[in-house]
Amino acid sequence: MLETIILLGAPGSGKGTIAEELTNVTEYIHVSTGDMLREAVKAEHEVGLKAKKYMDEGELVPDDVIMEIVRERLDRGPDEAHYMFDGFPRTIEQAQLLDAVLTRDGRGRVAHVFLLEVPEEVVVDRLEGRRVCRGCGAVYHVRNIPPEKEGVCDECGGELYQRKDDDKNTVLNRLDVFRKQAEELINYYDGQGVLRRIDALDREKTVQAILAVLNDSTETHDQD
Ligand code: ADP
Ligand code: ZN
Repeated sequence: MLETIILLGAPGSGKGTIAEELTNVTEYIHVSTGDMLREAVKAEHEVGLKAKKYMDEGELVPDDVIMEIVRERLDRGPDEAHYMFDGFPRTIEQAQLLDAVLTRDGRGRVAHVFLLEVPEEVVVDRLEGRRVCRGCGAVYHVRNIPPEKEGVCDECGGELYQRKDDDKNTVLNRLDVFRKQAEELINYYDGQGVLRRIDALDREKTVQAILAVLNDSTETHDQD
């Protein structure tokens, strides 16, 4: 069975970082709508031009734009890939449309939705202090994960910058948007019996907790 899993969580809950760690030790292909949108903005693609104003304000990009990039990504394959979505779906409409696409592709239902739970003060601190490398995309934090030399990437020497949507006001708006949408999504996936709540304060423990669920469900499948 081709598995689809989802990382759900507030901005700053660590979805991107955890997803990267999971790709190192599993077969899942990481699909981040946020990353795809940022790439489209940088490349000045049509999708990027449509999305930019929403992203800069911390608002959600319209569902039709998101579904277009997700469908396009899945169509690019490979067909036998197991996908791990990060930052998608963000609305109940996106969740329903995703189910429709998965059915279309014979992929069945979403297997697990990991809800990364982190206290709100922590996510605000993480986002405000976050710095990203322009060269390689490595992520730092001004206090928690400082680079050796301020403003310079340890990995590639690239310039570190603050994402435009990581300034205080936009961060608070993104959290607000998340709170409004999350409840519906959580109920939707809880209703399907696939929601797994994960205490996501510590990175290593978060990865281990997710792997434990994934391994457990593989074993159950193998016995079928
Ligand atoms: P975060 O989860 O930290 O906000 P992302 O990189 O996932 O970061 O998203 C950044 C921005 O991209 C969002 O604020 C939103 O404007 C847009 N975005 C990303 N994914 C979606 C989505 N599935 N639906 C609508 N907008 C999205
Ligand atoms: Zn770098």
